[in-house]
Amino acid sequence: MPELPEVETIRRDLLSRVVGRTFRRVRISPGAERIVRWPSPAEFARALAGQRIEHISRRGKYLLFHLSDGRYLIVHLRMTGALLHRPKDAPEEPYLRISLSLDDSNELRYTDLRKLGNMWLVEEAEPIVGKLGPDALEGVTPQTLRSLIDGRSASIKAVLMDQAALAGLGNIYSEEALFLAGIHPRRPAESLAADELSRLHKAIGDALLEAMGHRGSSFRDYVDAEGREGQHQWHVKVYRRTGEPCYNCGTPIERIKVGGRSTHFCPLCQR
Ligand SMILES: [Zn+2]
Repeated sequence: MPELPEVETIRRDLLSRVVGRTFRRVRISPGAERIVRWPSPAEFARALAGQRIEHISRRGKYLLFHLSDGRYLIVHLRMTGALLHRPKDAPEEPYLRISLSLDDSNELRYTDLRKLGNMWLVEEAEPIVGKLGPDALEGVTPQTLRSLIDGRSASIKAVLMDQAALAGLGNIYSEEALFLAGIHPRRPAESLAADELSRLHKAIGDALLEAMGHRGSSFRDYVDAEGREGQHQWHVKVYRRTGEPCYNCGTPIERIKVGGRSTHFCPLCQR
């Protein structure tokens, strides 16, 4: 699933390509109607046509297109969604679900193998993104991390992945941040000491920024707005490295279950 670095890479790609452009025709493939959560697919297509894109922002893993009539087109890619910027005459991608033509020679194409992604066209963004915690890239200080973990006996990894606590981290970057911070993923969140919290704060930023420098991770389906894979999958420290040597100490990376999710860590470096 695309996490914060992948969604942010797409956002930055699209900023220079589509801000200032106006949506023309919106086409929703048969069977893809459920991707549009609000309003009805027909009303979605009708109301989006003629809207100029003023800005694109991001909250956690959500992309928000700010439109000229004050509304927002909100997109969540979920498991296999991709948002591509393509010439209108380019061949159709497999799993093309929604195409949004622009007032130049290009269009935005939403592809999604599993059709689990979502779009909303709304006047207020808060009902969709208001339940999210602070953004993991922009909204976090050691103090906000402290307030997120206080009184929480759940594992620190589960808390990091809880979008209502902190928005943007999934399996990959919660594991990478915990490795960089030297913290065991099963540690109860509330047990973290002040020095561990400040290490974790720095580690979250480092993990996200390094991944964005590599334009995200493409372990499975993720591609950027031009359809290219990211490169960070070649640089992860623990994620999906079961049995391979830790880059710090040489101990084989282990895989365990934490909160029902496969989790990779170094048993020597992470305490
Ligand atoms: Zn190690």
